[in-house]
Amino acid sequence: MTKNLSERSIQLQPSAFAKFFAEAVELQRSGEDVIHLHVGEPDATTPKHIIEAAKTAMEEGFTHYTPPGGLFELREAISKKLKNDNDIDSDPSDEICVLSGGYNALYCAFQALIDPGDEVLIPEPCLPQYWGDVTLAGGVVAPVRLMETQQFKPDLNDLKSQVNKKTKMVLLNSPQNPTGSILTKEDMNSIAQIVESNDLFVISDEVYEKFLYGDFTHTSFASIPGMKERTLTINSFSKTYAMTGWRVGYAAGNSELIGKIRALSEHTGWSPNSIAQKAAIAALKGSQDCVREMVEEFRKRRSIITGGLNNIDGFSCTAPNGAFYVFPNTEKINSSSMELAQILLRKAKVAVVPGIAFGPQGEGKIRFSFANSKENIKEALERISQTIKDII
Ligand code: PLP
Repeated sequence: MTKNLSERSIQLQPSAFAKFFAEAVELQRSGEDVIHLHVGEPDATTPKHIIEAAKTAMEEGFTHYTPPGGLFELREAISKKLKNDNDIDSDPSDEICVLSGGYNALYCAFQALIDPGDEVLIPEPCLPQYWGDVTLAGGVVAPVRLMETQQFKPDLNDLKSQVNKKTKMVLLNSPQNPTGSILTKEDMNSIAQIVESNDLFVISDEVYEKFLYGDFTHTSFASIPGMKERTLTINSFSKTYAMTGWRVGYAAGNSELIGKIRALSEHTGWSPNSIAQKAAIAALKGSQDCVREMVEEFRKRRSIITGGLNNIDGFSCTAPNGAFYVFPNTEKINSSSMELAQILLRKAKVAVVPGIAFGPQGEGKIRFSFANSKENIKEALERISQTIKDII
């Protein structure tokens, strides 16, 4: 143990997700045929016209630093998108900041908003990075339980009862990772009342906004009357355009906060990748058919995986309304989510994420991503079914 580590870094534990990712990759490297249902990214390659824009940028020598906050042309395209898709007015000159992915945006946002001891209400199970980011900023996570019996939506009484003098803000994520739940406009309106009456701020993480099934539409929290000034909207190109490796995301909010986030981003990499920003411009300005086609394909996979899991003893799930994850209850199987995920990886050679990786409320559940081909999903279901027969 080195004595040089900071208290902050000592507090940070590698996530259970990172552990599983490493083990699945290792197993694959040793020659095993692992089916990856743990990944949080579309399996499709980035659409061709986006790749072409990046190639052109490189060939034209667009290979230098860009200003912190991102290219103006990209911020303008984001501003138009926010108006058209999200009903949010934002000035590209000072109300939008482009960052190296949604993770970078979240990190800078918490650094800009949280003082030591501030509490952040976070519906949980949730993206583990929220906990890490809040902790690194000196804040405290106040988890708001997401219950299967309430379609994994925050209980408003629970939310209200947790507000105290230290509560600074609420984190909303709709569609939600890992449960796939959606907050409707009515849900948002009710949350807005709590936010308003307690003078809270909101970070709204909307990276899965395009992954919606059934008749659901996406509502941005900042579009709820009176909420724009109280909300920082976070979004990314990663999921919508299958661009996880490019690392482009953004934050939109009031100019004072965006100015601070831009200043912070100078210390976490200076500026986003120049070539990836050109690709992101092409993504927003080009045809959106690629997005619709991908979501249509995901819709079919969603039926296969939910139907298939419900046919396996010990698993039960409802079809998610958004994102690309199913989060079945596995409490009938006599193993912790960590043990079960290990069995599925080592015996069935199917990589998944144990629910506990998303917080205590995730225990007794497993996250399956359906960002994999229909054939692989069917094969994985078959293997899981065989493996479970031996242990149940
Ligand atoms: N927010 C949520 C809910 C996510 O699931 C992820 C990634 O999985 C991110 C943000 C960050 O994505 P990126 O940094 O690739 O934009």
